[in-house]
Amino acid sequence: MYIVCSDLEGVFTPEIWISVASHTGISELKLTTRDISDYNVLMKRRLEILRNNNLSLHLIQHVISSLKPLPGAAAFIAWLRQRAQLVVVSDTFVEFASPLMEKLGHPTLFCNHLTVDHLGNITDYNLRQENGKMRVVESLQNLNYKVIAVGDSYNDISMIRQADTGILFKPPKKVTDDNSDLPVVHSYDELKDFILEFIDNGSL
Ligand SMILES: [Mg+2]
Repeated sequence: MYIVCSDLEGVFTPEIWISVASHTGISELKLTTRDISDYNVLMKRRLEILRNNNLSLHLIQHVISSLKPLPGAAAFIAWLRQRAQLVVVSDTFVEFASPLMEKLGHPTLFCNHLTVDHLGNITDYNLRQENGKMRVVESLQNLNYKVIAVGDSYNDISMIRQADTGILFKPPKKVTDDNSDLPVVHSYDELKDFILEFIDNGSL
């Protein structure tokens, strides 16, 4: 039994915070886990910027609703779900991801959630659990699944290393330089080949 655990942003969708930065003109919101590998440091900084600029959840959701999945993402997911189970494992928040998940055909999503006050301001964020991506893989392996993990950035590395097999999808050079032992693909076609090879080999 195979299951694919894939990251969301950078694999199936654009980086949500980069889009919010472009829309609002606040360039510091462009920082992602590609720049600051400590997620808690990054999120605290983002919430501070939102607060200082009076940016509500509603405004951010408005920006996100205009985003499209990466070209070919929805077709790839449809292809994949005929061959294996898929769980999208993300560090984003339910409140941000929903409009994009609709455009991807509603795959299962494991992610975090926000705390929002009665005025619609984001006051805090809640991690489902620490090291959540890796723990999802570990838990599925305990259910006797063979896990294939896919991601593009630093926050995916522990998930990829925990999986039965894992791969980087279009990562920035910095990430591949720091993890030169991990395989890399640059297109959905290459990713299909990687997944099929694992499944067809009857793997491990
Ligand atoms: Mg990513």
